Amino acid sequence: MTRAQGWYVAAAVHAAATLVVPVACGGCGAVDVACCDQCRELWQFPGHRVEQGAGRLDRMTGERPLPVWALARYEAAARATVVAAKDGGRHDLHPMLCAALRAEAARRRLLLHEWAQDRRLVVIPVPSSSRSIRKRGVDVVDRLARSVAIGLGASHTRALAARSAKRDQVGLDRQARHRNVRESLRRRADRGWRGPELPWSSPPGRRPAVVLVDDVLTTGATLAVCTDLLQAVGMPVISAFVLAATRPPDAQHSATGA
Ligand SMILES: [Zn+2]
Repeated sequence: MTRAQGWYVAAAVHAAATLVVPVACGGCGAVDVACCDQCRELWQFPGHRVEQGAGRLDRMTGERPLPVWALARYEAAARATVVAAKDGGRHDLHPMLCAALRAEAARRRLLLHEWAQDRRLVVIPVPSSSRSIRKRGVDVVDRLARSVAIGLGASHTRALAARSAKRDQVGLDRQARHRNVRESLRRRADRGWRGPELPWSSPPGRRPAVVLVDDVLTTGATLAVCTDLLQAVGMPVISAFVLAATRPPDAQHSATGA
């Protein structure tokens, strides 16, 4: 086969593939592109601190809430992109989102190493249930966490695990919701554990500082529970990164979409 013939075959295969599975922008649905320039641009700017909008990150102790950086507001095209990447089977969007979060982590690298003082840094993903990982075919949050670790020049470990499918939060009051989230997460077992070394198995003085990673920040309840679980074994959680954050409830009426 000549080079030209090879090209035609490749083009034909591509065209056939597009016919079978039409490609559309994960953000806005524009055809023939996995993510259009406009939707891609949503992820290219430096992130914002969003912890003030997440009520559950308030530790009620006068201590400042856990600093969280988000790349976008969880609405419109950004929301559609995250939903497509997470639950729409659009694995082709993962490299773009991972790269964006890696770049954000790199921007905060110096600051976070400073906050960690003389501890080393470890990046820990907020665990997804094994059911959702099976359904998605991949652990999306863990992929994001690996990218954050690269950006920070930190290690990465899946030290937390989901215990079971979370019960639906609908109809639960604030305390019951907290209990529900709390019961759904756990630390990986120390004894008999055959995975990578767990960060809390090092001597107390050498335990790392933690950066958490999740896909979306809403109330902050899950990050708060992860923080409690890790601080209980002597690992301070110093910040978190998420792709997107919902608008705080009191700002939702005045939202202009900007
Ligand atoms: Zn688009």
